[in-house]
Amino acid sequence: MKKILVTGGAGYIGSHTVVELVKTGYTPIIIDNLCNTSKQNINGIEKIIGKKVKWYNVNCTDKIAMEKVFLKEGRFEGVIHFAAYKSVEESVQNPKKYYDNNVGSLEVLLQCMQGHKTQNIIFSSSCTIYGMPDILPVNENSPSKTAESPYGETKQLCEKMLLDNTCNSVALRYFNPIGSHKSALIGDCSSDKPSNLVPIITETAIGKREKIIIFGNDYNTPDGTCIRDYIHVVDLAKSHVLSMSFILKNPGKHTFNVGTGIGISVLDAINTFEKANKIKVNYSIGQRRSGDIEKIYANCNLVKSELAWEAQKSLEEAMRSAWNWEKRKEINEKS
Ligand code: UDP
Repeated sequence: MKKILVTGGAGYIGSHTVVELVKTGYTPIIIDNLCNTSKQNINGIEKIIGKKVKWYNVNCTDKIAMEKVFLKEGRFEGVIHFAAYKSVEESVQNPKKYYDNNVGSLEVLLQCMQGHKTQNIIFSSSCTIYGMPDILPVNENSPSKTAESPYGETKQLCEKMLLDNTCNSVALRYFNPIGSHKSALIGDCSSDKPSNLVPIITETAIGKREKIIIFGNDYNTPDGTCIRDYIHVVDLAKSHVLSMSFILKNPGKHTFNVGTGIGISVLDAINTFEKANKIKVNYSIGQRRSGDIEKIYANCNLVKSELAWEAQKSLEEAMRSAWNWEKRKEINEKS
């Protein structure tokens, strides 16, 4: 049984990846200090997989505590590193917090890996590193632009740290992850006030918000609203498992886009949510949000040819699962 360390394994994408690792026959070991998620995701993982999962409540920037985990567990086949802060807005207000944590945790992790002969790492990167792309869809060789936020800068720096290190690495550049596991037992439990579109749609549908404000409808796109590539979190989770199997056979440095390759406008997303869930949501058109990219979607040829990975789930399915998660959260909050 191949033991895989998953930092941030109780988080949104981490918890879904832990489930997929178990389904594929890996043994995940979670490190998560629950600073921006909930124990509920650990319980949810255990319900889905039908057994206990090993979890260390450790901060990844704490070298001594991290060393203890490596010493206790012995050699890991590989590491999947999710643990990071993820609010673009907060990173602008408090950049130091982001550099210290996001860059600091990778630094500690790489030191521990080196000391304990763990060679392989899968890293959560982001399409934010492309900034406003000149050519669409973006491929992995598209230029990486000056990041719009310290959050984006930490992703660029971490990718660079991996290239400068002796480890084998896969950097996965996520497009826009949405949705949840079909059981609605795991999902995004972060305490950040949502700023992403899909949680804002679901919060409006459930009545926590009066309406969605669409940030601008005067962009150079077919309906005037911005275009993104929304990827179901379960599909995204599977790309990590395939990346791990891939890197065990193909040492070196790799970078893959992980998206659907399909550009969806804000209005398309709202309409699809309404249709998939047979529910209406209020919205109005507001000002553009500063720093927003007009349109971006992925060229996924490389990930398809190298990992045999392709998004399987439809936008409708993702919107249904997002709505189920919102309803489940409300039940949990009331109980
Ligand atoms: N968006 C919007 N209203 C909101 C939140 C998001 O119109 O309340 C738009 C946003 O301008 C962007 C798209 O939805 O065009 C996706 O935004 P999100 O923050 O989810 O992802 P990102 O912009 O970071 O890719």
